[in-house]
Amino acid sequence: MPTYEMLWDCSSCGTKKLLGKSHRRCPHCGAPQDPTTRYFPPAGEEVAVEGHVYVGVDWRCAGCETPNSRAADFCVNCGNPREGNAAVTRVDDAPTPRAPAARAGAPASSGRWKGWLLFGGVLGGVVLVALLIATFWTRDTAVTIAAHRWTRSIDIEEMAARSDSAWCSSMPGDAYSVRRSREVRSHRDVPDGQECHTVRNDNGDGTFSTSQECSTRYRSEPVYDDKCYFTVNRWGHARTATAEGTGVAPPPTWPAVRLTRTGSCLGCEREGARRELLTLKLDGPKRDWDCEVDAARWQRLSDGASARVKVRVVTGGAVCSSLR
Ligand SMILES: [Zn+2]
Ligand SMILES: [Zn+2]
Repeated sequence: MPTYEMLWDCSSCGTKKLLGKSHRRCPHCGAPQDPTTRYFPPAGEEVAVEGHVYVGVDWRCAGCETPNSRAADFCVNCGNPREGNAAVTRVDDAPTPRAPAARAGAPASSGRWKGWLLFGGVLGGVVLVALLIATFWTRDTAVTIAAHRWTRSIDIEEMAARSDSAWCSSMPGDAYSVRRSREVRSHRDVPDGQECHTVRNDNGDGTFSTSQECSTRYRSEPVYDDKCYFTVNRWGHARTATAEGTGVAPPPTWPAVRLTRTGSCLGCEREGARRELLTLKLDGPKRDWDCEVDAARWQRLSDGASARVKVRVVTGGAVCSSLR
């Protein structure tokens, strides 16, 4: 582990880059070293300490401020005994020369990012409040039931040859006309060497040592699998049969469904989901609304009956669930 001199600047005569271990006093003016001003040398200006023997962190003379070797029993400057004197404070390494440039940009962009985040938050809050007002600010309005409408529909499904794809391991058993291809299914991280940088540690005795700190680097690698493109015979939506009418009498009826062929052959048809949509036309003082309601209310509220409904003040839409 190589060892180098920490540096310090003489505050009395202004001499720069004095050696932390070798120059306990300024060689120009004789002022004692201030250990709190020690710093790591700029890149390329390291001064190696040959045959360095580490005896511990320096102690700082309370009488004259001079840093003394842990091995010294008395201050080299004023003769004070070691006892009762505190150790010098070690210096934390500054970021390596490359890092400041990278970090310099970070606060600015993160500040801009925070600004946008704040702007987005305020905007989101305003939109939320506006939405809440638009949703919940309503006015009770008298209406007349003007008409009853109903729509009933039945989905018709057809058995047909349909194209599909899946990872071959999960392909349906009745698939045919299968075509396979190798495709990327996922990615995995694989180790790809080491990323190392030099760390400088203040020994506290006017020197520092360097060591390598390494971490594993990873790269993303595609993982391939067999993809299958195939045909399967499946039921699927073909068309919708619809019946519609007005009034409660005659009552709503389901549309007549004519299936081309029944069974499970290719081209065969079957009935699928059924849907019923019941609406009431409401006449208000200024405008009218169409409201989708459940069968009970559709039956109970007859044409010409008076009712009340909540109307949204901002949008003018009726809250159909409030109809009574
Ligand atoms: Zn000096
Ligand atoms: Zn002293």
